Amino acid sequence: MISCLQEDKVRLQEELNATESQRQALSSSPQSQLEGLEVKLSDQTQELNKLCSELGTTDLEKHLEILVLENDRLKQELNGCQLQLQQLRNSLSGCISCEHSKENTLLHKQVTDLQLELGEKVQLLTELEQHLKDVLQEKTDREERLNKRLRDCHLALAKQPTSSVKYITKKVEVESSRTKQDLEEAQARNHYLQEQIAVQRRLLADQEQQLQDSWRTSAQLQAQIMMYEAELEQTRGEMLETFQAMEDEKNQAIEEVFLQARSEMKTVHENLNGVRMNLLSIQPALKTLTSDYNCLKNHVRDFPCLLQDAVNQTKREIYQAVEEAQKTNQDLLRKYKREMQLRKKCHNELVRLRGNIRVLCRVRPITLEDGTGLDTRNIISFDDDDGVLYVTHRGKTTMFELDKVFQPHALQAEVFQEVQALITSCIDGYNVCIFAYGQTGSGKTYTMEGSPEDPGINQRALRLLFGEVAERSADWDLTITVSMAEIYNETLRDLLGSDPQKIEDLTMRNLLAKDPSEKLEIKLSPDGSGQLYVPGLIQIRVESVDDINKVFELGRVNRATDFTNVNERSSRSHALLIVSVTGVNLTSGVRTTGKLNLVDLAGSERVGKSGAEGPRLREAQNINKSLLALGDVICALRSKQPYIPFRNSKLTYLLQDSLSGDSKTLMMVQVSPMEKNVNETVCSLKFAQRVRSVELGTMVRRAEKQDYSSRQDYESESPSTAAQQGRLNISHSGGSVVGKTTAGKRRLMASGEVNHRPAALPAL
Ligand code: ADP
Ligand code: MG
Repeated sequence: MISCLQEDKVRLQEELNATESQRQALSSSPQSQLEGLEVKLSDQTQELNKLCSELGTTDLEKHLEILVLENDRLKQELNGCQLQLQQLRNSLSGCISCEHSKENTLLHKQVTDLQLELGEKVQLLTELEQHLKDVLQEKTDREERLNKRLRDCHLALAKQPTSSVKYITKKVEVESSRTKQDLEEAQARNHYLQEQIAVQRRLLADQEQQLQDSWRTSAQLQAQIMMYEAELEQTRGEMLETFQAMEDEKNQAIEEVFLQARSEMKTVHENLNGVRMNLLSIQPALKTLTSDYNCLKNHVRDFPCLLQDAVNQTKREIYQAVEEAQKTNQDLLRKYKREMQLRKKCHNELVRLRGNIRVLCRVRPITLEDGTGLDTRNIISFDDDDGVLYVTHRGKTTMFELDKVFQPHALQAEVFQEVQALITSCIDGYNVCIFAYGQTGSGKTYTMEGSPEDPGINQRALRLLFGEVAERSADWDLTITVSMAEIYNETLRDLLGSDPQKIEDLTMRNLLAKDPSEKLEIKLSPDGSGQLYVPGLIQIRVESVDDINKVFELGRVNRATDFTNVNERSSRSHALLIVSVTGVNLTSGVRTTGKLNLVDLAGSERVGKSGAEGPRLREAQNINKSLLALGDVICALRSKQPYIPFRNSKLTYLLQDSLSGDSKTLMMVQVSPMEKNVNETVCSLKFAQRVRSVELGTMVRRAEKQDYSSRQDYESESPSTAAQQGRLNISHSGGSVVGKTTAGKRRLMASGEVNHRPAALPAL
């Protein structure tokens, strides 16, 4: 541009020079010259205007217009952006706190800053425009002034004559120099203007630069906006996708629910149809029910009357039935009693047929305490027949036959089962004697006493008697008393007597006080009845198992008094439990007395042969003597000899009642199955066989009542077959309570030696 201006300047200079030469030529012909000059001036003015417009106005204005246009466009874009931002803001109002909104706010701020900057620049441009206008105005003014002066010059030239043309020429020259000066000034001015233009151009360039920066920033912003828009678009797309997915899910769920509902509806419809069908089928039933209900209502109305009738009828029937039942009952009772009597009769007959002396054998098991040596080998074997056993020794087998053999595994209950018939018969007034015979250690005490957990015959017998007493209590007043005694060295000793100092209870002291070592005597009853009794032998009434246990414990304690070892003593003495059962028939007044003697005999081993001395020899002799006497008595009984040697020992003398003709005897022979005990086992079994072969006399029931002639009377009053047979006797007793011994009993009670109804047992 500058070079162009310089060229123009040079060209103008040349033209000016040409004009000068022309003027000089004109000065020769002033009029033509002036006209030529005017034309040239106007051309120059036009040219100048053109230049001016070319130089400043055109570019600047064009720039300005472009800038204004650009500005407008930017403003429009800005408005568009603002609008979009507003829309975005609206759409993103849900996520104000998210990162995008923060970035958006930042961008918004940047845009605001740029707007401000743009405003400033627009302001600057406006100022520049204003300045340019001022400059143009000044230039126009100056041109006008120049034109005016030119016109003035022309006028002055026109007025002046030719003479004065020389002057004027001079003047023109002067004027021309002035013009030159003006031209120089104009040139200077032009130079200045050019500088100004340069400055403006620089400014413009700066502005352009700034504008470009702004464009760049704007472009960046636009890019960012685009990016955000893209992000937004993406987010919107994702949101749309999510929305679409949710929409799909929703549709699917709706579809499923719809399907389910449809199937449920179908089921419900089916059910409904079923219910409808049911209803249809129920309707007739309902009708029937309604009619039934009406019918029932009528019945209910009539019910009280019917009920009353039925009750009355039923009452009558019941009374009738009760009367009939009573009759039948009485009939049955009579029959039952008759049957009971028959049963008793049969039972007694059976016992009689079996023999009054029954001999059983019990083989004890080999226990761990017996050890495992050769001599503990078993030598006893059995047969299918339960009355036979075999003893094998030194290759020789001997058979023994008894009424019954209990093998080692036999239980206490089984043994008792076999003897319980005997025990019940003592309630019926028979004297019974059960002996446990055998060598020491063969199980005598085990069978008779047993252990607390598994009691033996003694305790079981008393329990059975309690049961029988309770059963017969309606017809019979039965009393059970017990005494315990031992025979040691042919001396009878009461096992229930205690040292008075040891008894705290006063009544008990009165009852049980006795010197434990006192010897008891067996005496003939002074009433001349020929009966035996033991003055001073304590009898204790027992009514429960507790009572029995107390009595047994007392006996056990007393038995151990003089010996450190109870077994030692028990093997050398006979222990007797004497149970007396007295009964009075409540209807007939018949009195019965039965006695059960349970005897745990002393060990049958023949100690005497082994050369014992002193007290031990005496003990052995006494034991042998009494056991021998027992055998003799039984043999004498068997052979029905007129004289029975009961007096040969204390034991047989005391048990005279229970061994003589009208009594029942059971001998339980205990044996050990071990090799080492073979001799004693064989001896015991031989003794058993000897005793078994003895037949006692006919049984006689011990009752006070005399003969009964008619069976009917017997059935209603007495349970015994003996009575039926008309063989009722009053017999003597070896104990303190015997058949016709009410007087004797009273005697003992009067002497304070016997008390049938102790208030309670002493604490043991
Ligand atoms: P005895 O009184 O004849 O001297 P025991 O009755 O004291 O003999 O018995 C001796 C041992 O044998 C005791 O330990 C006893 O428990 C045991 N005994 C005896 N018979 C049996 C049996 N049938 N079952 C189990 N153990 C028995
Ligand atoms: Mg014993």
